[in-house]
Amino acid sequence: MYDIVIIGAGTAGLSSAIYALRSGKKVLLLEKEYYGGQIVFASEIENYPAIKKISGYDFASSLYEQAMSLGAEIKYEKAVSVENNIDEKNVITENNSYKCYCVIIASGLKKRRLGLENEEKLTGHGVSYCSVCDGAFYKGKIVAVAGGGNTALMDAVFLSDYCSKVYIIHRRKEFKGEKVLAEKLRKKENISYMLNSTIEKINGSEKLESISVVSNDSKIQNDIEVSGLFIAIGQIPDNEIFRSVADLDEDGYIITDDECHTKTEGIFAVGDCRKKDIKQLATAGADGATAGLKACEYINKKY
Ligand SMILES: Cc1cc2nc3c(=O)[nH]c(=O)nc-3n(C[C@H](O)[C@H](O)[C@H](O)COP(=O)(O)OP(=O)(O)OC[C@H]3O[C@@H](n4cnc5c(N)ncnc54)[C@H](O)[C@@H]3O)c2cc1C
Repeated sequence: MYDIVIIGAGTAGLSSAIYALRSGKKVLLLEKEYYGGQIVFASEIENYPAIKKISGYDFASSLYEQAMSLGAEIKYEKAVSVENNIDEKNVITENNSYKCYCVIIASGLKKRRLGLENEEKLTGHGVSYCSVCDGAFYKGKIVAVAGGGNTALMDAVFLSDYCSKVYIIHRRKEFKGEKVLAEKLRKKENISYMLNSTIEKINGSEKLESISVVSNDSKIQNDIEVSGLFIAIGQIPDNEIFRSVADLDEDGYIITDDECHTKTEGIFAVGDCRKKDIKQLATAGADGATAGLKACEYINKKY
């Protein structure tokens, strides 16, 4: 029996753990991939209070070590549902289930998919969602980046250092990302722009061979041979499994009050997975502090 089970070991989950552990609670973190969450692959963070500059990896590692040094337990398992029983909660993973008094949902965001045939099948065989993780495999090759926001622009800049050619394909006429990044991109000679264009097909049987790109105005289709396609079209919440214990808004974000309570007593939601305006490290940490302490208060009162 744990006092608190936290679903997700990103910034919000680890911050919740730190506060709950310092209040003497027994805490289990469940993580489906790797600790640290989204920020792990960010090259630089320059807006976290009191830290001038740090890499995403160093930030995540330091947070993880802090939680572990306080006695957190972590299991690399994916939570698939949460039960709210009379005397306790039950978090069910693919192979186990964990009883606890409180649950903190810190599931963050997942990468948005293009939704095309072959996308899932060729993920890991040419289709990728992380240039920092997979970029080096495409040294000297031709690749494409889908998207027009900051992540897509950063990906294209990063990949242009490794790859012989980088196509950047965006469905709008202008990039959404920061001007500074777009200017950085324009200085690169091996980048080719396909704006106002849509990727309509991902082609290949065993591995990615080409993509079919259609111009939104002329409707002319171009088949481009690429070894890699990096999809950077934003992120979406992944909260369907919590629907029985928490209300979701129309976009799938968990609805909470200011103290991170969901509609179910003893179940909290923190960080990017919950409905709020500003989704940043500082606000994920702040949610962790709030829910970590409120969860302790709930347990102390009720049990
Ligand atoms: C490229 C990039 C750069 C960024 N740069 C900055 C920056 O400079 N400054 C800043 O303030 N913010 C930045 N952000 C935003 C910041 O990373 C997020 O606001 C923050 O990571 C949110 O933390 P989180 O813990 O809520 O979610 P996440 O970091 O998404 O963590 C959620 C964790 O939950 C896990 N999980 C999800 N579902 C389950 C499940 N069912 N079972 C088990 N585990 C699960 C996931 O695997 C993940 O590890 C950046 C984001 C990106 C993508």
